[in-house]
Amino acid sequence: MSVIKGVKGVKDLLPEETPRWRFIEESARRWATRYGFHEIRIPIFEVTTLFARSIGASTDIVEKEMYTFPDRDGTSLTLRPEGTAGTVRAYIEHNRAAIPVPQKYFYTGPMFRHERPQAGRLRQFHQFGVESYGIADPRADVEVIALLWHILHELGLPSLTLEINNLGQAADRDIYRPVLVGYLKHHEAGLCGNCKHRIEANPLRVLDCKVPECRIITEQAPRLSESLSETARSYFAQVLAGLDLIHIPYSLNHRLVRGLDYYNLTTFEVTATNLGAQNAVGAGGRYDGLVETLGGASTPAVGFAVGLERIAMLLPDSQNSLIPADKTVYVAGFGNKGSVAGLTALEELRTFGIPAVSDFRATTLKAHLRQADRLGCQFTLLLGDDEAIKGAAVLRNMESKSQHDVLLSSLPSQVQSLLRPS
Ligand code: ATP
Ligand code: MG
Repeated sequence: MSVIKGVKGVKDLLPEETPRWRFIEESARRWATRYGFHEIRIPIFEVTTLFARSIGASTDIVEKEMYTFPDRDGTSLTLRPEGTAGTVRAYIEHNRAAIPVPQKYFYTGPMFRHERPQAGRLRQFHQFGVESYGIADPRADVEVIALLWHILHELGLPSLTLEINNLGQAADRDIYRPVLVGYLKHHEAGLCGNCKHRIEANPLRVLDCKVPECRIITEQAPRLSESLSETARSYFAQVLAGLDLIHIPYSLNHRLVRGLDYYNLTTFEVTATNLGAQNAVGAGGRYDGLVETLGGASTPAVGFAVGLERIAMLLPDSQNSLIPADKTVYVAGFGNKGSVAGLTALEELRTFGIPAVSDFRATTLKAHLRQADRLGCQFTLLLGDDEAIKGAAVLRNMESKSQHDVLLSSLPSQVQSLLRPS
């Protein structure tokens, strides 16, 4: 029979890798909680209009990356390409604005984009993100950026840069757009095919095109900062002052525009030098217009999302050792009576809360000890027919080889006290 394989760009995380992932997720959760964010779990799929309306029709995501399919009644559904749209929908749908305390959420889970798979770019990937609603204060931007910075720093990721830019308000960009379009049209011949198309569709996106020819052209382009209102400038200055105050390092990048349409004012991205072409670890910004665009009341909002695959790629190996090894007991029950007593011992240890394993294929003590070693168990409970008849067993420390007799009648508590570091 032919073998069925996984889908291209969709990866399995095997048991050897999941501790690393758990470490990342737990670290992010812990930091988010410390900053007063609470977990929200939103659905994997939504109606297509939600993403089309929020992310923007002429963005890479909506134009070519969405997994869209008709439901059985014909409704168009889409696998979520990001978490912000769904979180905003839930915020509106459950009237969270009526709750008189700041609404600060975090989420983590798979996202889906039909992209060309390569290192750090998958079709099913994972993000951790936060969203803060209702606070039009530069300190909310600072809080979110500081959280992002601390999560990445605690993980010990090497060579990170936080880039930040001011996108101004929609009205500022309305002034800037024709200026930029005029300049780009003048240099159209030198732009990549994608950017030629973007001139009309989404000219600001040309600014962060990675193609070297485009970069040379846009380096000389008129800057958005020149079209910004006084309010937008002052808001951004306060964000930067806040970051300075709490010593979060950043560098200004006037090209940073982000691929989603809903951002305004503060926008930021964290990049790592050793990720190759896919160097963005996470990104976010303020998106004060989105809640209203999706039918809610006008609500200021700010958030970020980080890509967990890229963090996992960057995570130093030494971080794995931060995961405490369980003191797992290998139960070596052999012989007729020993096997039966072994099953009871496993159950008793586990219900008591002690991790316990056995390889039921092993029938001799020697085979059991080999499996205990392979599984990296620090302790083995030796339980043959003789021991079973006596109502006792032997707990062996696999490293020191020291052995202790334990009574089966009060097995878990005796094992527990022997597992404690002396
Ligand atoms: P990129 O420029 O790398 O395509 P993006 O602007 O599309 O990134 P966002 O939508 O801001 O990315 O998503 C935030 C983060 O999610 C990215 O910085 C990245 O770490 C991660 N990410 C985005 N798309 C993918 C993907 N296809 N595979 C793996 N990670 C991804
Ligand atoms: Mg992308």
